[in-house]
Amino acid sequence: MILVESGLYIGAASDVKDLTKLSSVGITHVLTVDSEQVALPTQFITKYVRALDDSSTDLLSKLDECVEFVEAGKQASFSVLVHCHAGQSRSAAVVTAYLMKTHRITLKEAQSKLIHIKSDVKINENFLDQLTLYESFGCEVDFCSPQYKQFRLQNLTERYTDLKDLPKEVFAADPGQIQSTEISYRCRKCRRTLFCGSSVLSHEVGSGPAAFPHKKTAGPGSGHHAGCTSYFIEPVRWMEDALLGVLDGQLLCPKCSSKLGSFNWYGEQCSCGRWVSPAFQMHKNRVDEIKHVNISALK
Ligand SMILES: [Zn+2]
Ligand SMILES: [Zn+2]
Repeated sequence: MILVESGLYIGAASDVKDLTKLSSVGITHVLTVDSEQVALPTQFITKYVRALDDSSTDLLSKLDECVEFVEAGKQASFSVLVHCHAGQSRSAAVVTAYLMKTHRITLKEAQSKLIHIKSDVKINENFLDQLTLYESFGCEVDFCSPQYKQFRLQNLTERYTDLKDLPKEVFAADPGQIQSTEISYRCRKCRRTLFCGSSVLSHEVGSGPAAFPHKKTAGPGSGHHAGCTSYFIEPVRWMEDALLGVLDGQLLCPKCSSKLGSFNWYGEQCSCGRWVSPAFQMHKNRVDEIKHVNISALK
């Protein structure tokens, strides 16, 4: 167990078993980031985040609540222990996030600060990628942002072959079943509403000509690219049956069965050259954009 800063310790599973030691340094709050929960006497205020030290664990979604737990303990002048099994990767990732958020420092700065204090810290690559995203989010996860949705889908790709059911939360509600004032997209053929504007996961335009050397459409020096011919979107509820346990396939209209696009859990390349992973794409020429007009406002 090592003191990171006043009121915050980082440690391993063995540290939590030593109750005398915990009391001697005044630990009152214990945050466990591990595959198993530890049983502690009731005088401890505990929080448990189930996490494996691997390439598929989503720690990003839990970082804000972990930081909040540490802050709450520290603000009340208590001492908080953040621990995992070895005290090197999972707990270190959480403590790094805490340092980034509360001290408003970069991931690099937080990492070197922690390694300086605890030299055996070794955060796994997956968590480092998530911390990089966390940094780009300004240390606050916006669960509705396209970047977060894309992360969640990518994370799911790591596990999708083992999945019996796809988690409900990855699917957007079916706009064909609900009334919405948002921009929506309909099947060009049968006008069935397929997805909303908030489901579109925009990407930075790739360097098209370089990615498609055989399709150099833009003239030299024009700086013009063909653009994206598809919408890449989050999965929508009506796709559920088509997606489960299948690596790739077509996306057909749930009403008229006309081909709208395709999906691939490992990703597909957009016409602009950008690789999007995983990919759920709807061809722009198969759908119509509908802007809802508030009729009462026109009267
Ligand atoms: Zn594109
Ligand atoms: Zn249709």
